[in-house]
Amino acid sequence: MSEMNPFQIAQHQLDMAAKKLGLDEATHELLRWPMREFRFTLPVRMDNGKVKVFQGYRVQYNDARGPNKGGIRWHPDETIDTVRALAAWMTWKTAVADLPLGGGKGGVTCNPKEMSDGEKERLARAWMRAAARELGVHRDVPAPDVYTTPQIMAWMMDEYEHIVGHSHPGVITGKPLALGGSQGRHDATARGGVYCVREACKVKSIDPSKCTYAIQGFGNAGQYAATLHREILGGGKLVAVSDSSGGVINRGGIDPERVVAHKLETGKVAGFPGTEPITNEALLELDVDVLYPSALEGVITGKNAKNIKCKISCELANGPTTPEADDILFGKGVMVLPDFLANSGGVTVSYFEQVQNTYNYYWSRDDVNQQLDRKITDAFTAVHKMQQQAKTHMRLAAYMVSVTRVAEACKLRGWV
Ligand code: NAD
Repeated sequence: MSEMNPFQIAQHQLDMAAKKLGLDEATHELLRWPMREFRFTLPVRMDNGKVKVFQGYRVQYNDARGPNKGGIRWHPDETIDTVRALAAWMTWKTAVADLPLGGGKGGVTCNPKEMSDGEKERLARAWMRAAARELGVHRDVPAPDVYTTPQIMAWMMDEYEHIVGHSHPGVITGKPLALGGSQGRHDATARGGVYCVREACKVKSIDPSKCTYAIQGFGNAGQYAATLHREILGGGKLVAVSDSSGGVINRGGIDPERVVAHKLETGKVAGFPGTEPITNEALLELDVDVLYPSALEGVITGKNAKNIKCKISCELANGPTTPEADDILFGKGVMVLPDFLANSGGVTVSYFEQVQNTYNYYWSRDDVNQQLDRKITDAFTAVHKMQQQAKTHMRLAAYMVSVTRVAEACKLRGWV
């Protein structure tokens, strides 16, 4: 089980839901595989004058409910299996949030930390030139993900508009505000996660204002979770944070704003005044009320799940918990808010961005946050209701909600 690649994990999770729902064989098989996959070979001229060849991907998993939607990751460990898994999870995510969209994902195997802005721009444009014919508001709409930024989205949108010859800002979301981005997109993923934690606290009769919390991964999702947890829940004590270079802990509490400022200034959380070092592994096992895994996939496994002590694990990262670990955590009474529910705030506001681009009229930040709260609260309620009915863990319940919705769309189209 622990040797499954991310896509095999995604298929296994679907299999469990299909079994529990008694899904017919053809629908089950259809939902086990991406509908379309693209692999691009991308030659890019580097600053030293030499050409470097990158591998890029786009997977369109299932568009029965609407155009595909999903981010683009730039990471040295990116593989087609990671992209497939993330595309599957996007399908379940748009369905659980009840958005009229399908699921997709893209990626490039590269190390953006070693690339100049010029090299990143040339890679972004090369990826868009290769993918353009498969994209568009009615086909597939990418967005930022690990190590891709609003600036990268802006270059990609510009390249796409050069190719099609007209304005088409909705081809990509997560753009800068000045180019048709949405208010509230920057913190939407973390905000959605914190709304889920608020609802989970109600169910578990926990006073959210007295929660202790820890965050693994201190990028876009993790940093906003640090500050929004206190803002939305009216309190709480942040005790530890980490990034790829290690973590820091102070059981007396870490000031969220100050540690974010330190990270932005120095590039790491390590060395934040008044804290002790802690490893990424030890952070996961802290005795806190809420854990936010906000880095990469596969960090909570059959090996460490028995040591996890939090009451709620809010998965801002995609795929941080393996299926084996899920069962162990359920047995221990840990409420796992599964990735595709907990981090669906990002794609929900991406969808709002696309809607605003299409009718060329823009909402206020309060409007966006209010609509997001309504969507996430409805999604949590649907999943929790399913969990109570099916007497299973939240991930399987969330799958059951999503798979039911996607299967219904496939059947109504006459695909199965
Ligand atoms: P990011 O690039 O802004 O940050 C990633 C963070 O993870 C960085 O702080 C990095 O140092 C840290 N990290 C990398 N490797 C690590 C390791 N081995 N141990 C600990 N920390 C490590 O990315 P992000 O946008 O914050 O995304 C984080 C996770 O959230 C990803 O799984 C992503 O797919 C998911 N997610 C993000 C969004 C979004 O809108 N940003 C939406 C949905 C899901």
